[in-house]
Amino acid sequence: TKHFPVRKRGRELLSRAVRSVRAVEDVTLRLHRGRVTALVGESGSGKSTVARLLAQLYPRTSGAIRLHGEPVDTKGGKRFRAYSKRVQMIFQDPFASLNPVHTVRYHLTRALKIHGNAGTNAAEQEQALVDLLTRVQLTPPERYIDKFPHELSGGQRQRVAIARALGADPEVLLADEPVSMLDVSIRLGVLNLLRDLKERLHLAILYITHDIASARYFADETFVMYAGGIVEGGDSETVTQRPAHPYTQLLIDSAPDPDRPAAEVKDGGTGEPPSLITPPSGCRFHPRCPHAMKVCPEKAPPRFAIGDDGAAAGAAGAVGDGAHFAACWLYGDLSDADRVKLRRED
Ligand code: SF4
Ligand code: MG
Repeated sequence: TKHFPVRKRGRELLSRAVRSVRAVEDVTLRLHRGRVTALVGESGSGKSTVARLLAQLYPRTSGAIRLHGEPVDTKGGKRFRAYSKRVQMIFQDPFASLNPVHTVRYHLTRALKIHGNAGTNAAEQEQALVDLLTRVQLTPPERYIDKFPHELSGGQRQRVAIARALGADPEVLLADEPVSMLDVSIRLGVLNLLRDLKERLHLAILYITHDIASARYFADETFVMYAGGIVEGGDSETVTQRPAHPYTQLLIDSAPDPDRPAAEVKDGGTGEPPSLITPPSGCRFHPRCPHAMKVCPEKAPPRFAIGDDGAAAGAAGAVGDGAHFAACWLYGDLSDADRVKLRRED
């Protein structure tokens, strides 16, 4: 859980209520080595905040991070370095994350040295650099090693950023929209590289994206986030082909699909994402949900298991067991009074 305090202004200073942005609320995820886990949601859903919490770039408001079952808590310093050796992050904009006055060699050497992977002499260090560039398919390495960021394409820069993360020899890679700033034509190449690295280096990858179609292609497991909480999860094929939660259905209906005429594509048009300072009561999706019922604004829905037939299958199991679940009352055992529709469905 992460709440950010809101600075008070003007007349708000008079208000006594402590205000905060409830950016991430009770999110639980489990990542597995050798697997890609996607976290999908629109901007402002809190998905980047989850990545930054996992990278320990922000302190969390409550909750725990465990590696191989061991709780980790670093609060900066040496222990943070030991953690960041195991858990590395790559960002959306490779241009912003690389220093324009330094070459590829500088960026990669620094990462190798910080994490103790630069070898014991110049020859070993050079070999480690060549290995990193080869791993991210920047070959021949001598063509790239003394270049500055501005001399590279967007895709090449993102590959350098990935190589720098690999310089730590991590177990976990947190990838926050790693291809969304790249040209469409080169996105697939970078995703394929990440998938290849996942297999060869047995990495656990968290893939954060607003593009649910790419999650289907690239991720083994997919979680959908709405307004700070996870609303659906399961294997990627199931979540994207047989979405159970009304929000996931909306996301899929509003994604551009080359096989459908534009007129059929909904604009996701049943409203705006909610304020996270004063989030809607109960199910946070209820103001936008075409299926909202009497119970929805009253009580936040727990996770319910979804069967292979797409129907309700009782309470969900442990988070991260890979089974399909949705946090939605449509799959709950409700009284007729609770089931009364809030609005007419068209
Ligand atoms: Fe819609 Fe209710 Fe399900 Fe929320 S709990 S998604 S409002 S039906
Ligand atoms: Mg973001």
